[in-house]
Amino acid sequence: MNFVSTRGNTDSKSFSEAVRIGLAPDGGLFVPETLPDLSSELATWEGCSYTDICYRFFKFFATDIADGELKQLVESAYGQFDHSECAPLVSLDDRTSVLELFHGPTLAFKDFALQLLGKLYERQVALTGEPINVLGATSGDTGAAAINGLLGKPGINIFILYPEGRVSALQERQMACTGESNVYPISINGSFDDAQSSLKEVFGDKAFSESVNLSAVNSINLARILAQCVYYIYAWLKLPAETWARTTFVVPTGNFGNVLAGWMAYRMGMAVAGFRVATNRNDILHRFFASGDYSVGEATATLAPSMDIQVASNFERFIYFGSSENAEKTRNAMETFKATGAFETTDPEILQSMSSTRMDDNEIKTVIAEVYRKYGYIVDPHTACGFKDLHEFEHCVVLSTAHPAKFPETIEETLHVSSEHPSLEALKSRKIVKYPLAASAAAIKEFINSKQTPVETK
Ligand SMILES: *Cc1c(COP(=O)(O)O)cnc(C)c1O
Repeated sequence: MNFVSTRGNTDSKSFSEAVRIGLAPDGGLFVPETLPDLSSELATWEGCSYTDICYRFFKFFATDIADGELKQLVESAYGQFDHSECAPLVSLDDRTSVLELFHGPTLAFKDFALQLLGKLYERQVALTGEPINVLGATSGDTGAAAINGLLGKPGINIFILYPEGRVSALQERQMACTGESNVYPISINGSFDDAQSSLKEVFGDKAFSESVNLSAVNSINLARILAQCVYYIYAWLKLPAETWARTTFVVPTGNFGNVLAGWMAYRMGMAVAGFRVATNRNDILHRFFASGDYSVGEATATLAPSMDIQVASNFERFIYFGSSENAEKTRNAMETFKATGAFETTDPEILQSMSSTRMDDNEIKTVIAEVYRKYGYIVDPHTACGFKDLHEFEHCVVLSTAHPAKFPETIEETLHVSSEHPSLEALKSRKIVKYPLAASAAAIKEFINSKQTPVETK
């Protein structure tokens, strides 16, 4: 299987190359040359373990990795999850289930992709002998998950920029209390957007990024999307077969990576009723699915901070597949979007493929209280956004994207119960090691350079 760019102007690449490069050189995102048809295959995976399904799925894509090695990579990637099923499906009533995606080491769904990506980077370094410097910017969960995926890996340094004072205290501890010497949490004096724009400038300096073999860890990496397809398939196979085609997946959404993965599994043959995009007050995607208008506004802070996003980078892959894999159309749409900050479509194939909702902070609190009263179950503020208008569905699976203990203030204020997790409690007594820097590309480059010697490889 080869991988091509959504904008059509990049030579096709192997799986490992596409994963290493991240963003395609023509500015597009990597996608499989063709989506495999798994419709007859999927049902034969019923009863398989999570890692076995993951391995069977990746065999279609990671064709340049030997079977035995792939199996080992997958098994080690999910070895640190604290639930034997990795993604248990919990039934709330006979129409509603929750897919718990918070059993990984940093308690949010991003671990599913970043634990595996960490193993793939490690393999790359071992194969080439070349050290990698990974750079990312985070408003919270991604940074913690990326750092955890690369903890202590030989030949890999990880630098994560985050806005000082604007990630939660626990999220900062998850990044800054690891005790590993290859981890550099960089607190930026500025906003998330300042961090993001310095990061882009650093990557824009090609001479620098090549000199230190810089790699981006963000949600555009193809391996992340594919890793996320797996838990949809796993959950679907856990449902009674007679409800498969009558089930809707409800996905709390920010950057559109999570729901896109489910939709891709659908395009490969996982027959479901549909997908629901659940947004918070930052509702660009809700406005899009309601009216066809995708235009950027200002991101505002909400109780569900990991969804406080205005530009959904993975939307480009959706446009590409939604327009029958037309790279020219995708390129034009993205160019229009870049020039005007807006994009419009009336294409029913695109608009009708998902429904959407929006929830403000008051509703989030009401839902947390209601779900607790009705089911005795605690949802975090992101997951809460999914619990809107579920009566419209015959059957639904709400994806739970984070453990409630990551957001103890909201839970305690709403339910008057404390929400704790042992792995977070353990962090509270550890030393914070972070590196404050100005939001300047020059300062970041100088910092990265200063950490280059000695780098050991295996
Ligand atoms: C990242 C994140 C989201 C949003 O997921 P996308 O793939 O960006 O749509 C939702 N909830 C939590 C807890 C997250 O960490």
